[in-house]
Order: sequence, then C-alpha cells, then structure tokens
Amino acid sequence: MSRTVAFIGLGHMGGPMAANLVTAGHSVRGYDLVPAALKAAAGAGVEAAGSAVSAVADADLVITMLPAGGHVLDLYGGILAAARPGTLFVDCSTIDVADARTAHEQAVAAGMRALDAPVSGGVVGAEQATLTFMAGGGAAEFAEAEPLLAAMGKKAVHCGAAGAGQAAKICNNMILGISMIAVSEAFVLGESLGLSPQALYDVASTASGQCWALTVNCPVPGPVPTSPANRDYRPGFAAPLMAKDLTLAANAARSSGVRAELGLRAAELYAAYAEGPGAGEDFSGIVRTIRDQNGEQA
Ligand code: NAD
Repeated sequence: MSRTVAFIGLGHMGGPMAANLVTAGHSVRGYDLVPAALKAAAGAGVEAAGSAVSAVADADLVITMLPAGGHVLDLYGGILAAARPGTLFVDCSTIDVADARTAHEQAVAAGMRALDAPVSGGVVGAEQATLTFMAGGGAAEFAEAEPLLAAMGKKAVHCGAAGAGQAAKICNNMILGISMIAVSEAFVLGESLGLSPQALYDVASTASGQCWALTVNCPVPGPVPTSPANRDYRPGFAAPLMAKDLTLAANAARSSGVRAELGLRAAELYAAYAEGPGAGEDFSGIVRTIRDQNGEQA
C-alpha cells in the first residue's frame, strides 16, 4: 500500500533512505535545513517541502533521521501540532534512550503515535536498503511501520516499548566498541611477543576470541582483505559515530546506575581518538593509537 511519508533530515543516511521509499512507490515529502541535501533528495524523486511543518501536514507517517536527541525534540516541538491527529512518528536517528522516551511522550500528548527505530548498517546499508532497524513502541505502530522499514532495510526487530530500539542500538554498539579495543590490544600484544598477525587471526577467528571486530572489520591489514585496515582505515563505520554511540551508552549506564566499567572506558578512549587522529578514520584505526601509545611507553 502506497503511503504519504514526510521525511525530515536528508543527510548521509536520510537521503538514500528517503530515495528507497520513493523507489518502493511511496509518496515522500522531504525537508532538510541544508538546501544541497534537499536538492539531492529531489533528484531522487522526493518532493521538496519548503519547511518541516508543510512536509508533515498531510502525511500518514513522519520519519526523522537527525544528528542527536536535541534535534529530534526541537523538531517535534515545532511539527507535532501541524500533523493530522494519529499520525505515526518514526524516529530513526540514534539518540539518548531518555530523549527517545520524551519524544514518545510528547507525540502521544499531542494526539500522535510514535516509534523509535534506529538503524545499523551505515551509509552503504542506507543506499542498498540493507539496514537493520531496532524498534521501540507499540505492536500496532511497529506493524504499521514495518512495510516502510522493509523498503529501507533487510531486517526489523521489535525490541519492546518506547526507547527499547535505542537501548538495543547502544547496547550492541557498546559490545562492538569494547570488542574492537580488545581485538586491537591483542594484536599489539601479539606483535610485541613476536606473533604474526596472520597467526593470531588464524587461531582467534576459529577459537573463543571470535567476534565481528576480528573476522569482518579486522583492525590490522592482511587477514581480512575487505576490512578498512587495508585501505588506510577509510570508513566503514566512522570513529566519531562510534564515540557518539558509546557516549550514549555511558550516559544510559550512569543514569540507570549500572557499573559498565569497560563500556565507560571504551567511551573515553573513543572520545579521545575521534577528536584526534580518528576524526576521519574507521573506528578500527584505534589500533594505531594503541600501538603508538605503547611505543611511547617503551
Ligand atoms: P547527517 O549529518 O549526514 O544528516 C543529518 C541531517 O539532518 C543533516 O542533513 C542536517 O541538515 C539535518 N537536520 C538537522 N536538523 C534539522 C532540522 N531541524 N530540520 C531538518 N533537517 C535537519 O547525519 P547521518 O550520518 O545521516 O546520521 C543521521 C543519524 O543516523 C544520526 O543520529 C546517526 O548517529 C545515525 N546513524 C548514522 C550512521 C552512519 O553511518 N552515518 C549509521 C547508523 C546510524
């Protein structure tokens, strides 16, 4: 069934996601503060709206893909009153669990319905419609959004009530951030013990050290030819985005009183790396910082 969709935030992720909705036969009205982003989306068949308010006026669903929770809450403050009562608001941005719950509450208080549905899969996943969505909200809302999520991704998991999608996203990425540091430290230690990276890889990739950070995104060049390490750490998954997600996980751990010691430490290490050499690198490049710091201490 063809739906009328307002799509706000047409950046690296939102632009191709909106284009895939058009390809699937939906009528998409888009808006972005940056004229170039709006123009690029219009080139892919998105109807360019003059404002977020005009984009949502006759929409069945409103999808947002914005940088952070503050942007989502600010935008909701301006557009909730402009939508038709009962419109489904689907936020695909990665934001604080607390902000996601506030966004749900604001939508419901304004007579709307809401779902948080952050994604993994990156820009390539957005372009190729192979994203994974993690959704939080009611079962009826998830069922209504599912055909649209299917047009933008390959998998959608209903994780629970409001905020559960964001919770799944940041917990998964906390595992990933910690495991990338663990794999990087193991390679640096192995090097200092005279172990070749290939030998360590051959053992760990089929033993209990096996994980995605090792077997798909291996931080040293050689063992996994498609990993960013083989192209001078060009992303891939950019370090600043990992730093952002770990900060969200650290915030959630602190506010819920959970002692996630490695998660908090990973957030610190990635924040420093992303502000320095990692600013334009894939997150696996943190191996070079770990190696350099050990060289300095030797
Ligand atoms: P981006 O900066 O490329 O796009 C965000 C867009 O939102 C920008 O074009 C900006 O102009 C627009 N925007 C901001 N405020 C707005 C407003 N009030 N009205 C209209 N437009 C507004 O960021 P992105 O890489 O597309 O990421 C978007 C979200 O997806 C983030 O929350 C990010 O954490 C998450 N995410 C990104 C990736 C990735 O690989 N890039 C992967 C997974 C999740």
